[in-house]
Amino acid sequence: MSNLSADKPLPVITDQTRPFWTAAKNRKLVLQRCQRCATFNFHPKPWCIECGSRELVWTDAKPFGTVYSYTVSYSVAMNYQGWAADLPVVMCLIDLDDGARMYAQVTGCRPEDMRIGMRVEVYFEDISDEAGIPKFRPTRSSGGPGR
Ligand SMILES: [Zn+2]
Repeated sequence: MSNLSADKPLPVITDQTRPFWTAAKNRKLVLQRCQRCATFNFHPKPWCIECGSRELVWTDAKPFGTVYSYTVSYSVAMNYQGWAADLPVVMCLIDLDDGARMYAQVTGCRPEDMRIGMRVEVYFEDISDEAGIPKFRPTRSSGGPGR
């Protein structure tokens, strides 16, 4: 339980994605922001998803978003037994306040209480010595079970 990454797959970290994982380790959510059109990109890419510019700069993102969609897993995926203690796992597509849509786990909310449009805020967990991962939970004002 204390080792959150035990028996779970770790992300393959590349030069392109390392800033994201390192920032999460440092409790910050960063995304690539286009210097030409100001679009926030997720996930990390060599060029802007809107205008194609390669002038992308890692930028602090607002730590809030809105649930766009979600799914609930009641079984361990790909036999990674490290997930067993976490079930059921709620995976969401989240529209960040800065505009990017990212996928992440939402915790602190029973599956039956999940709602599209729910407001969520980021928090972070360590997954290795060099990486953290952003996860989300309902904001206090979201009307979720956290009240
Ligand atoms: Zn752009």
